[in-house]
Amino acid sequence: MSEPSVTRPRRWDKPFSLEAGSENEMTDTDVEELLQLTPFCQIDSSGFKRSLSLQEILKNDARIVGFDDGDIIVRRGDWGSSAFLILSGNVRVELERGESSLPDEILGRRHRRMKTLWESFSQLWRNHREAEVREVAEVSGARPAMNTRLTRGRTRIYLQEVSAVLDKYRTARLEPGHWFGELAALGRTSRVATVFSEGVSQLLEIRWQGIRDILRYDTHGGLKSYIEDAFRERALASFLRTDPLFQECSTELMQRIVEQAEFYTFGNYDSSRPFKELNSNPLRITETGEPVIIREGETPRGIVMIRSGLARISQRYYQGRRTVGYLSPGQVFGLEVIQSGMKASVSQPCQTQLSAIGHLNVVVIPKELVEEILEQQNTTGNNAVTEPPRLSPTCQTVKIDDEALLGQLIDRNYVQGTSLMVIDLDRCTRCDDCVRACATAHDNNPRFIRHGPVLNHFMVPSSCLHCVDPVCMIECPTGAIYRDLGQGDIVINDQTCIGCAQCASNCPFDAIRMVDIRDSRGNLIVDSKTHAPLTQATKCDLCIDQRTGPACERACPHDALFRVDMQDAVQVEEVFAR
Ligand code: SF4
Ligand code: SF4
Repeated sequence: MSEPSVTRPRRWDKPFSLEAGSENEMTDTDVEELLQLTPFCQIDSSGFKRSLSLQEILKNDARIVGFDDGDIIVRRGDWGSSAFLILSGNVRVELERGESSLPDEILGRRHRRMKTLWESFSQLWRNHREAEVREVAEVSGARPAMNTRLTRGRTRIYLQEVSAVLDKYRTARLEPGHWFGELAALGRTSRVATVFSEGVSQLLEIRWQGIRDILRYDTHGGLKSYIEDAFRERALASFLRTDPLFQECSTELMQRIVEQAEFYTFGNYDSSRPFKELNSNPLRITETGEPVIIREGETPRGIVMIRSGLARISQRYYQGRRTVGYLSPGQVFGLEVIQSGMKASVSQPCQTQLSAIGHLNVVVIPKELVEEILEQQNTTGNNAVTEPPRLSPTCQTVKIDDEALLGQLIDRNYVQGTSLMVIDLDRCTRCDDCVRACATAHDNNPRFIRHGPVLNHFMVPSSCLHCVDPVCMIECPTGAIYRDLGQGDIVINDQTCIGCAQCASNCPFDAIRMVDIRDSRGNLIVDSKTHAPLTQATKCDLCIDQRTGPACERACPHDALFRVDMQDAVQVEEVFAR
């Protein structure tokens, strides 16, 4: 009897231009025209593989999309997985940050309402009998919660009164030939500004896999230098000023820093896969294959600031190395070594080594400029140099005596967590009060399972970590899974989740479940055309609408359950050094 056979799926089985939301299939003529435009005409196509030529990448990983007046193209705070080149028409980019930027309501963001004290109390008996109840009107779109409209076959959020927005908020016009969105797509960070169409416009959208491959095979680095120039020009100064070291820098000095900063990329871009492999192989030797950025014993050429990704700090230990800490975006390596060198008037070697975990982007600021900043601080009375070498919050190392435990936390990538759930099994009596409290706060359906890997006497249950780099968002077609701009938690919008399960398959921690949804009488909600039950993604939302914070932590009668921000060395030590 012959065995059933299937054709193995391939990357370009479905070109980007045939995915939902596209207008027209990309043709060979479209590609030929694109190749005449900057930066494609500056790319050396001879370095590309025959099976992965520049033409094929453009044909399969790019699409031409049209926008109407006011259509939002990218939204501040959303996770980006593609970049845009303006082909015709104009777009506007918002220039202000913080309170002066476009408000959430007009950007179609759902305003999360906190439950009142009475609602929190009464949920004990007023929850629906069935789990995962939704209002049918919201799921069906009969009651739109946002300014959405169908533009060229694609549901878009739009600004209702573009002229009023232009009068009230500071924006800049971008014209044909401009690129935007590449920093978020390649840096795996959120969009820093909202961009919308002014009048009718036509853009080339290219997904991150395509940008990655062009960067990889373009031997002359045309696109790479374009992207670096854009980051240097538009975003580097404000990125650096997030660290206290640069906050008081004079404009003149900051300008020189921006000019002389160097950018480096290490490791594999497709980071959700290596993290999954790490999780499935707890015995992996931690140092295997990690590119070294600064070696132990080397004199640093400057300080290293993490732009995206995670880096490991380790030290020689007998014949091997031990992990002593890790750095996440915005954190700095090498400052205290330069400070010590200035104090001793002779360059000092690094006592630790810095290496890249997964895909890492860094900015290096030359040592001479760092010394100039420190001297400037010294003369203005902000005398960091005469102080003991600064272990700023940005370069703390974690002190946990059990190095194997710290190594496991890093190898399993739990260092991604801004709210890692940890249960101390020496205290836990398995009463399940935490699970019941979670169910009460979530309409009778708990959002985590009290089961997971055990590291020493700590269990890490299967629950969302609220990652620094939430790879679950990468391919969400509607942006339904997003980072709450207020609190930074990763949450799912029931009104826009279409149940495609991309997030669940991308999450390396299996923290997302796809569930059948029901109405308040307990009936399954089904698709009106296919009659198939509708599913949606659910996961821990950190009880975002509860006044008292995560119900699980609050409910534990034995003080055994913690939510740990793995970026906070003090919290990590408090919990894991118990
Ligand atoms: S769902 Fe998964 S990838 Fe996304 S934030 Fe939570 S743990 Fe991280
Ligand atoms: S299942 Fe919902 S939240 Fe997840 S990727 Fe699809 S639309 Fe987004």
